[in-house]
Amino acid sequence: MVGYDSSLQTYQSTKGRTTFEIAGGITLIVLKFGGTSVADRNRMDAALRIAADQIDAGPVLVSSALAGVTDTLISLAALATAGDTESVAKSFATLESRHYEAVSDLEDPVDALSRLSSLFDELRGLLSGLSLLKECSPRTYDAVLAFGEILSTTVLHARAVASGLDALLLDSRDFMITDSGFTAAIPDFDKTNKAVRDAIRPSKGRLYITQGFIGRAPNGATTTLGRGGSDYTATILGAALGASEVQIWTDVNGIMTSDPRVVAGARTVDTLSYEEAAELAYFGAKVVHPSTIQPAIELGIPVLVKNTSDPDGPFTAIKTGSSGTGIRAIAGKKRITLINITSSRMLNAYGFLSRIFAVFEQHRTSVDLVATSEVSVSVTVDNNAHVDQIVDDLKQYGTVGVEDDKAIICLVGKNLWKNSSFIAEVLNCLKSIQVRMISLGSSDINLSLVVPEIELENAMRTLHARFFSTGT
Ligand code: ADP
Ligand code: ASP
Ligand code: MG
Repeated sequence: MVGYDSSLQTYQSTKGRTTFEIAGGITLIVLKFGGTSVADRNRMDAALRIAADQIDAGPVLVSSALAGVTDTLISLAALATAGDTESVAKSFATLESRHYEAVSDLEDPVDALSRLSSLFDELRGLLSGLSLLKECSPRTYDAVLAFGEILSTTVLHARAVASGLDALLLDSRDFMITDSGFTAAIPDFDKTNKAVRDAIRPSKGRLYITQGFIGRAPNGATTTLGRGGSDYTATILGAALGASEVQIWTDVNGIMTSDPRVVAGARTVDTLSYEEAAELAYFGAKVVHPSTIQPAIELGIPVLVKNTSDPDGPFTAIKTGSSGTGIRAIAGKKRITLINITSSRMLNAYGFLSRIFAVFEQHRTSVDLVATSEVSVSVTVDNNAHVDQIVDDLKQYGTVGVEDDKAIICLVGKNLWKNSSFIAEVLNCLKSIQVRMISLGSSDINLSLVVPEIELENAMRTLHARFFSTGT
């Protein structure tokens, strides 16, 4: 039992079932709203209604930036660094008016407007620094990006208070402690768990509001957890607080059999095991960030994925013991690079693979799929930021080839790889496509194939039609 004794203000944490009991015997929940769920004041009010309906559970609300704002901030940083002050001014004005607009209908918007205005002054200062220096370090980049979530939560908090909720706004950088890996910082769980428990004292009837995605490095600088990282913040908070449930509110009805933007007939998967959800997220189902599942697994916290525009509609519950049989879903991931290392020195040489992988580790680049033969190793990576340096370093071990514009298709389902007629069927569906690599057995719940990126969406549609059309 994981319990929180509000009188002692301490937590007992053991593995297994988690219940966060607060005064009155209620259980805490974490609600995360993505960008489209907080895109404007109407969407924000809908999100707040979802939180208000569950106010007895002492909810902690984690918010993303308004839809599109993180992309705007990325482009602002680039424009400022390039010295394009005219475009910066234009885009900045749109950003300002979107946020001002989101509080302008409040009866007394003065306080919110002045908070927003000082945040915009701060951001303006950072951007003019970039224009002067003509250089944007990863540290400054994260400082700029963090404004998206800081602005959105400022608006949400103002609207929550105006609607009569007992709402408290917390700066997540006070408790989300990370390393200094700017743009993809790694949380320090020991420090974060303690800081979260010190900062958040949930109580019945109170709504905590905080930012997803952002954290703080040991030297005090702002960091981010990587694109889509607000989901991760939600489960980190849920695990730290021993929440009974984490709800991810988004723009689709849960995790579907495939990306509904690509496959028209995709439908909601009602339940998934943590492992299935993690594989899907890792291999492209961006509806949840790849790291989201990990904090929830250890304590067995259910993660629900729901649609803000259809709160009572179909949704996905990710929880222990909910893996089904057969194929569950198909994910696709673009921008994959395949790196081949060929060397006769690999023959009978031990330690060869470890030296190869050490190069990837040194450049903080994780490897997705691997295939080896007597004289060659092929690996895929989804982060090509350091590919040039990796290739240079690998050249000491053999001839290195790089193939860009690849994609991974991942079919998730228990023991798929054990069924050879299923594999034959998959390859038959893809017979007109050049399948470059297949990974069958590494996890018993996924079958992954590397295909040309340009073929990905068609391949997903074909496979979906074959394995998910009614009657199969
Ligand atoms: P949010 O802003 O709420 O975090 P995201 O845009 O990050 O939302 O994720 C939701 C999107 O994920 C959906 O609109 C959908 O296009 C995409 N997606 C990809 N794969 C899947 C899948 N298997 N199920 C549902 N959505 C998926
Ligand atoms: N706002 C960030 C992004 O767009 C984080 C998130 O939405 O989860 O990547
Ligand atoms: Mg997201």
